Amino acid sequence: MAAQERRTFAWMDLLWLVFLAGLAALDPIFEIHKQLTLLGIGLFQIFERQFIKIAGPRGPAYSVLIKIGLATLLVSHTGGINSSYYPIYYLPAITAAMDFGALQTLLWTALASLAYCSHLIPALMEYSFPEADVTELVIRNLFIFLAALVVNRIVMENRRQSSRYQALAETLADTNRRLEDAQAEARRSDRLAALGQLSAGLAHEVRNPLGVIKGSAEMLHKVLKTDEALSSELANNISSEVNRLNALISRFLDFARPTQIEKHPESIPALVDRALKAVHDRWPDAAVAVERHYAANLPKVPVDAQLFEQVFTNLFLNAYEAVGSGGGKIRVSISEAKETAGIQDGDRGRQGVIVEIEDNGPGIPGELRDQIFNPFFTTKPTGEGTGLGLSLSYDIINAHGGNIKFDTKENDGTDFIVYLPA
Ligand code: ADP
Repeated sequence: MAAQERRTFAWMDLLWLVFLAGLAALDPIFEIHKQLTLLGIGLFQIFERQFIKIAGPRGPAYSVLIKIGLATLLVSHTGGINSSYYPIYYLPAITAAMDFGALQTLLWTALASLAYCSHLIPALMEYSFPEADVTELVIRNLFIFLAALVVNRIVMENRRQSSRYQALAETLADTNRRLEDAQAEARRSDRLAALGQLSAGLAHEVRNPLGVIKGSAEMLHKVLKTDEALSSELANNISSEVNRLNALISRFLDFARPTQIEKHPESIPALVDRALKAVHDRWPDAAVAVERHYAANLPKVPVDAQLFEQVFTNLFLNAYEAVGSGGGKIRVSISEAKETAGIQDGDRGRQGVIVEIEDNGPGIPGELRDQIFNPFFTTKPTGEGTGLGLSLSYDIINAHGGNIKFDTKENDGTDFIVYLPA
């Protein structure tokens, strides 16, 4: 491409020199200043780009100025105001039109025109200028302006087009990049899905030996002397650890299995209460005060009751664990999402129910907030957290057309808000 450009330039340069040679071959042939000026014009035109590069940001302006100077020299050595070489002033005017905007083109052309008119001064000293010649002079000048403006318009249009194409090319490159990212993400998802299937199979297979281990521990406990403290403790340990592993595997399998949703109109407060009871039964002695604020006459919401009991249980388990055992407070409010309510912009105008679970726990630190809905993300000690609760809840809520978000401040509690469309 660059080589091709250079070749085109070489051709243009040659043509340029041929035309200048044509001018040089015309009268006055033996006017050495005229010939030298033509040579100067030719050389400057050929090396103009290099000159601009060296001259820096003011290069284009100097280039127009030099051309006005050379044009003035040529015209003054070929008859002054009556010179037939006056169209040489088109050269600086068109150069300005190519390198500058409309206003600057006008100003540079005015300067070129002034330089041309300056030849009037010596002429007027010698003779008076007939009116017909004045008209001719004005016409010549106007044509210089006309040429400059036409060229400037074409150049501006070209610049606009090329910046449009450039913007288009950038958009295309950006879209391409995003497409590649999406493809990479799809490949990663495929691999993750395969891995998920594999681990789900593995988890399932682990269950059977676990059952055998638990049964055997219990048998062993019975067969050995029951009053022996150590054997009793060991058997209990095996049993409770097996239970924990079983619970972990159940949650993992829930997560990996494609969710089958069976929706029926349900009362959300009843589901929330069931979840609260399940969590309370798990920690009956926890000193946690639960405040309930349920609006009256809430609409029923089509949801899968079992899945939503699981969602609310997850949220309450997290809240209980966050507030710890002493002085904790959990506030549960259920309200109707009317016309402008809803918790995200897309929910505006949709009717539904909002469940808000607020705790006064330690809050979620800023750097973790982006991760809490990721599967297997947990800050809880090994054996206590699976990191699947929120991720599973997120998927279930989304599959029901709802959404979940949270508000949290470090050391100032967390507020989970679930929106469900009615
Ligand atoms: P898990 O409870 O097994 O850790 P979750 O997906 O339910 O998994 O939660 C992920 C993480 O989000 C938790 O480990 C905890 O760091 C954070 N988190 C969730 N709920 C709360 C809350 N109410 N207050 C503080 N942190 C929370």
